[in-house]
Amino acid sequence: MTLRIFRNAFLASLAAVIACTLFFVGIMYYSTHKLAFERLSAEAEQIASALSSYGDDYINTVTHASRVTLVAADGTVLFDNTADPSKMENHASREEIREALGGGTGECVRMSSTLLKNTLYYSKRLPDGRVLRVATTQDSVLSMSATALIPLFLGILLALALSGVLASRLANDITKPIYELNPEKTDALEVYPELLPLLESLLSQQRTIRAQMDELSRRQREFAAITENMREGFILVDNRRTILSCNRSGLVAISEHPRADEKTISRVWCKPQICDAVDCALAGERNEVLVDIGGRVVQVIASPVVSNLQVAGAVLLTMDVTEREQREALRREFTANVSHQLKTPLTSISGFAELLKEGFVPPEKVREFASDIYSESRRLIALIDDIIKLSRLDEGVPSTEREPVDLYELCDEIIEYMQPVAQKRSVSLNLQGEHVKILGVWSILNDIIYSLCDNAIKYNKPGGEVTINIKRSYGEVELSVSDTGVGIPYELQNRVFERFYRVEKSQSPSIGGTGLGLSIVKHGAQFHGARVELESEPGFGSKFTVIFPPESVIEDGVNENRTEK
Ligand code: ADP
Repeated sequence: MTLRIFRNAFLASLAAVIACTLFFVGIMYYSTHKLAFERLSAEAEQIASALSSYGDDYINTVTHASRVTLVAADGTVLFDNTADPSKMENHASREEIREALGGGTGECVRMSSTLLKNTLYYSKRLPDGRVLRVATTQDSVLSMSATALIPLFLGILLALALSGVLASRLANDITKPIYELNPEKTDALEVYPELLPLLESLLSQQRTIRAQMDELSRRQREFAAITENMREGFILVDNRRTILSCNRSGLVAISEHPRADEKTISRVWCKPQICDAVDCALAGERNEVLVDIGGRVVQVIASPVVSNLQVAGAVLLTMDVTEREQREALRREFTANVSHQLKTPLTSISGFAELLKEGFVPPEKVREFASDIYSESRRLIALIDDIIKLSRLDEGVPSTEREPVDLYELCDEIIEYMQPVAQKRSVSLNLQGEHVKILGVWSILNDIIYSLCDNAIKYNKPGGEVTINIKRSYGEVELSVSDTGVGIPYELQNRVFERFYRVEKSQSPSIGGTGLGLSIVKHGAQFHGARVELESEPGFGSKFTVIFPPESVIEDGVNENRTEK
C-alpha cells in the first residue's frame, strides 16, 4: 500500500513538474516573442517616419542589427540591407507583405531550416503603397530549451528528488495510522474518521472470533475432560501412523510402558498385532484384535478414517476386556463343570436303572440298587439346587426381599436341623454370641450359614467340634463358623471359593458336596455387602468369618446369650 501511494504521489508530482516546466518555457517563449515584435514594430515606425522626413536615401544609412527590406506594392524587392535586391524573388506572396498591403501592418514568423532559429517579420505599409519590412532572428523553442537544458535538467532532478522525499513521507503518513490500526483503540479515527465502518466491522469480527475461540476451547476442555476420564481409549492416527489425538487410556491400553510424548504407533513400543491392525485400517479395512498387555486383555478396534474417498488415517478404540474375558472363561469352565457334575450321577442312575430293567439284579440287591439310585438323584437335586441358587445370586436378588433377620435365631434353627448329621459324624455343634438383627434376605443367609456348617461337619474329625459365634466388632457384625477339622492348605485357601473347586478332587462320595457351597457363601455375602475371611491350619481346623457392614445392622434386639448343644 505504501509503495502504491508513493508511486502515485511521485508520478503526480512528476507530471506537475513536467507541466510547470512546459508552461514556464511556453511563457518565456511567448514573452520573448512579443517583446521582439514590439521592438520590430518600434523600429519599423522609426524607419518609416525617417523615410517620410528624409526621403529614400535614408534607408541606405540604416545600420540596425535587424534586417530591413523595402518592397514595392507589386512585391518587387526595392531594398534589402543584407542581400542584393535584384537577386531576390518577388515578395508579393509573403504573408507579412500581403497582410501589410491589405491591413497596414503584417506579422509573420518563419522557422529556419535548422529548426534552431525563427525569423520574425514585421511589415508596415508606407503612405506611398510600398511596404517596409523589418526582420530579426530569434532562438526557437527547441533552441531556447537547449540553452536552458542543464539548469532545466538540474531543476527537474531537484524537483524529482523533492517529489520522491515528499511522496515517501506522504505515503508513510497516510499508511502509518492504518498500519497501527487497533480495533480496540480509536486513535486512528481521529486521523481517518472514514475508517469508522471498517473499525466497527473489525471489532464485530473480533468479537465473533473471540466468542468462537471461547466456544472452541470450552468444547476442547469438555472433550478432554470426557476423553481423559473415559475407561475406553481412543487414538487417531494419520496415514503415516502419526498420533494426531489420543487419550491417556488409549496410550495405556496399547503399551505396557506408554509414554505421553510418543508421536507414532510403532513396533518399538506397541504390540505387533496393534501395528498390524493399524496397517489393516490404513489399507481400508476395519480390524479387531485382542491383545495381552501386561496381564490385561485389551480389545483394539482399528477403523479407517475416510476423507474424499481416500483413507486419511485410522482411529483406534481400545477397551479393557479383562473382566469380560475372565467371566467368559469362568462361564465356559462352569458350563463344562456343570455338564460333568450332572453327567456323573445321571450315568450312575441310568446304569442302575438299566440293570434293574434287564433283571440282572438279584431280588435281595434290589433295595440296595434303589437306595443308590435315590442317593445319586439326591446328589443331582442338591447340585441343581446349588446351581439355581448361584444363578439367582448372579442375576441379582431383588432388594425388596430383604427383611430383618436375627442371625442368632437363624443359626439356632440350622444347628437344630443339622444335629442328626453332626451326631452321625460324632461332631458337636456350639452356638455363641449375641442376638443381632441384620437387614438381609433370609433364604440367602440361611444358605450361607448352612453351607459353612455343612462343610465344618463334613471336613471335621470324629469327636470334633463346630462353633458358631456371632459378635459385634466396631459396628460390624462377625459371624464365624470354626471347626476342628482337616483344615485347608494355605496356598489353596483362595481357591476354595471358586465354583466346583474341591481341595481333594477324589473326595469320597459319602462326604457329599457339590463344590458350589463356598461360592454360594461368597456371593451371598457380597449380596449383603459383607466379606468372607478364612483362617485355616491343615490338621487343626478352619474358621470362616462373614463380616457384615454396620449399615446392614439393625440396632434393636441386641441380647447377650450363650447356648451349648
Ligand atoms: P463342597 O461341596 O465340596 O464342600 P465347597 O465349595 O463348600 O464345596 O468347598 C470347597 C472345598 O473346600 C471343599 O471341597 C473342601 O475341600 C474345602 N473345604 C470347605 N470347607 C472346609 C472346611 N471347613 N474344612 C476343610 N476343608 C474345607
